[in-house]
Amino acid sequence: MPELPEVEVLVRHLGPLLKGRTIRAIQVQRAKIVRPVSMREFTQALRGARFCGLTRRGKYLLFKLRKPEQTEPLALVGHLGMRGRMYLLPGQERLPKHAAVVLDLGREKFVFEDTRYFGRLRLDNAALPRLGPEPLGAEFTVEGFARALGRSRQSVKVKLLDQSLVAGVGNIYASEALFRAGVAPTLPARKLTTVQVRRLWRAVRAVLREAIAGGSTVPLNFSGKGTRDGLFYFGRAPGAPDYYEERLRVYDRAGQPCPTCGTTIRRRVQAGRSTFYCPRCQRG
Ligand SMILES: [Zn+2]
Repeated sequence: MPELPEVEVLVRHLGPLLKGRTIRAIQVQRAKIVRPVSMREFTQALRGARFCGLTRRGKYLLFKLRKPEQTEPLALVGHLGMRGRMYLLPGQERLPKHAAVVLDLGREKFVFEDTRYFGRLRLDNAALPRLGPEPLGAEFTVEGFARALGRSRQSVKVKLLDQSLVAGVGNIYASEALFRAGVAPTLPARKLTTVQVRRLWRAVRAVLREAIAGGSTVPLNFSGKGTRDGLFYFGRAPGAPDYYEERLRVYDRAGQPCPTCGTTIRRRVQAGRSTFYCPRCQRG
C-alpha cells in the first residue's frame, strides 16, 4: 500500500511530464473513482483544462489545472488506494484492463489504473480529510508530536497511523520508525518518555526521507505490474541497473534476524494491521 514516500516519488516523476499538457478527452471507466460528481460532470469540468502543478499532501496527490476561460484554478485530488498506479502511456498503446480513468493528452494518455478500485480522483479539496502536519515540514514539531501522543490511550503503533497526528505515515513506515527509535509498538502513546518522543520524531522523519531518496534514485517501472522487489511497489524499470537493496529493516521480516542484534523479528496484529518489531531492540 502506497505511503508518503511512494506518493512523493510519483509526484516528482509525474509533475514534469504533466506540466503544460492539455486534457483533450476523458474516459471514466469506474464511476466510483470520481464520486461524488457524476462521470459527465467530471468530464465536463476537465475537458480543455491544462495541468499547471502537482504537489502532495499526506498520501494525496494534488493536481492543479487551469481552463482558458476561467481565472480560478481547478483542483483534482488523487489517492492511490491500495495498489493504484498513475502513469503516461503512448497514445496508440492499448489500455490496461483496470484503467479506471484515462485522460487523453494528445500524443500520450494519462492512465489511472486501479485493480481494486479503492483509489480516488476527485474534483474538490473538500475530499481531503483533516490531515495533521506534514512529517517532513517545519509544522511537524517535537512539541506538537509530544502533546498529541500524550493525549492518546492507544498504543503508539496504532496512534502513528492516525492521519491527524501526522499525515502520510502508514503501516510500513510506522513499524520502521518504531524500530529505529527502539520503542515497543505496544507501548501506550501517552507513556512515552520525552527522550522516546524525540527519538521517534526523528525516526519518523529519517525513515521517510531515506525512502524518498531511495525511490528518487532508482529507475522505477510506474506502468508495470506490481512486483515485490524490496523497494517500491512500482518495481524496478525493465533493463535498469540492479539497485536491489534491503531497504526495510523489520517490515515483513517476521522470523528473520534483526539487522542490529540478531534476535528473531516478530509479527503481531494491532488494530487489524501487522506490526513487525524486534523484541530485544524495542523493549522500551
Ligand atoms: Zn534487535
